[in-house]
Amino acid sequence: MVTRRGRNCGKFKAFAMGEGAVAEASARLKELGREENLVEVEPGLYFAALDEMELPERLGEEGWFAVPLQAFYAENKLPESVVSRIRSNAIRIPYLYLNTNEYIYRFRAEKERNRKVYQVDDSSVALYHSALCDAIKAVKRAKERSATTPARLDFGATEFLLPSHFGFCLGVQNAIERAYETLAANPGKRVFMLSELIHNPFVNEDLQSRGLKYLQSDKGVPQVEEASGRPYWDSLSDQDIVIIPAFGARDEDKLRLIERGLPIRQYDATCMLVEKVWKAARRYGQQGYTVVIHGKAEHEETKATFSNSAKYAPSVVIRDMKEAAMLGAVIRAETAEEKRRLFEPFLSRSSVGFDPSKDLDRLALVNQTTLLRNETLKIIAYLEAALTEAYGEAHITDHLAMSSKGDTLCYATQVNQDALAKALDEDIDAAIVVGGKNSSNTFQLFRLCQERFGKRAFYIQSEKNILSKAEIEHFIFPYDPQDPKQGIMETRAFLPEKERIRVLVTGGASCPDGILQQIICRINGFYPSEQIRSIESVLAEIE
Ligand code: SF4
Repeated sequence: MVTRRGRNCGKFKAFAMGEGAVAEASARLKELGREENLVEVEPGLYFAALDEMELPERLGEEGWFAVPLQAFYAENKLPESVVSRIRSNAIRIPYLYLNTNEYIYRFRAEKERNRKVYQVDDSSVALYHSALCDAIKAVKRAKERSATTPARLDFGATEFLLPSHFGFCLGVQNAIERAYETLAANPGKRVFMLSELIHNPFVNEDLQSRGLKYLQSDKGVPQVEEASGRPYWDSLSDQDIVIIPAFGARDEDKLRLIERGLPIRQYDATCMLVEKVWKAARRYGQQGYTVVIHGKAEHEETKATFSNSAKYAPSVVIRDMKEAAMLGAVIRAETAEEKRRLFEPFLSRSSVGFDPSKDLDRLALVNQTTLLRNETLKIIAYLEAALTEAYGEAHITDHLAMSSKGDTLCYATQVNQDALAKALDEDIDAAIVVGGKNSSNTFQLFRLCQERFGKRAFYIQSEKNILSKAEIEHFIFPYDPQDPKQGIMETRAFLPEKERIRVLVTGGASCPDGILQQIICRINGFYPSEQIRSIESVLAEIE
């Protein structure tokens, strides 16, 4: 057996030992509250996972060995029955047991921010930097009086309105800074993202051009190494680094990394607001509630939340009001057979063993963080009505966790939504919402614009989607699987022929400021230069 005694890099360790050490190991595990981690897998062969602790020297002297679990499987050639006993006892993700106030990766304080990563060369400056956006943000931060009103950029023939808040949230900035730093600090190593870092193709492409690789797509499809044609997962070893994105990751994926001997906490960039949702789900589960996750079942964040929630509580994912109504019908159904039949559409997104006859009588709701508050509140109101009908008004607080009313939404995206709402009363010719095609929070911004401006609202990824003054490529979000147009780009009529046009522009939480400025420049480029004022003169007026 390969021994790797005492390495403390977040690996799980398999320990075999002489009998003399069992009592000591057992006592140490008890101190850690992990006595169940020690198992006798065969007579005389003990196994323990000590999470991130060092192998105590004395245990080493007494015959313990530490190996990455993958090596343990391969080199010991233990029977599958033994391996599965080890697996179920030993493989844990230690830091998921963090208490309410501990987080995997807190938002960086101002002095910890690493803004240098956004300007390493011309291409990163072009992507991330915008003098216009910087000026707007600085003014809005400094001036209380105008803090929530949209900013106006008057170029003459064009006028742009930008909400007081738009673009990058702290969770996204944390993850981006971590990714660039990890690449810079590990030359010669393979550095992977588990899947997309954030839902913005330009940020992801920029990172790839600097050497970052992706282990799997945002849909979980393994990515393949070009030279060998093998999935990267197959060749992953403890010499590699895998960064977990801001959305978090499913336990299943983390366990696969652990089995390959990779340190995970060190490179886990899960946003603390996502982790807050996991903690809420754990709390509700411990209080005996079933957790209803309002989110898109195929989204990485919702998959990670479901994976965390299902450990503590029966859990089910619902997408929208339509599905809330379907769940309501299950609650109202009178017989177990009817409940079972009506629950069938949820089988693929509910926890193993979910029993619709028992598991829908006490509910708590948590969210995919980036959804619209109003929609979540409507869903809760609907479920409240269904539970009231089933159990009576007097008992509703026993059946619905009242504290779950939208408290797991992300305030950062909420701020972007609220700021946009303040710009919706304006009379404009076009509203442009910018973000990755699979960005949920961007889509919510688009929905607000679409409700107000109809076909004058456009969802685009960058200035390249603006084909001409007359035409723009609008992306139809893959939201409704019944809509044959979902997920495609559609060319639509863009700006009207007018002497002066007004355009509302905003970006989702994963949209770099540089792209917004390029959009403004692209539109200004359609007008004679003598009709467009310089950026410098517009900057001087921002207030
Ligand atoms: S949108 Fe919110 S939850 Fe998502 S990364 Fe940003 S701050 Fe975190």
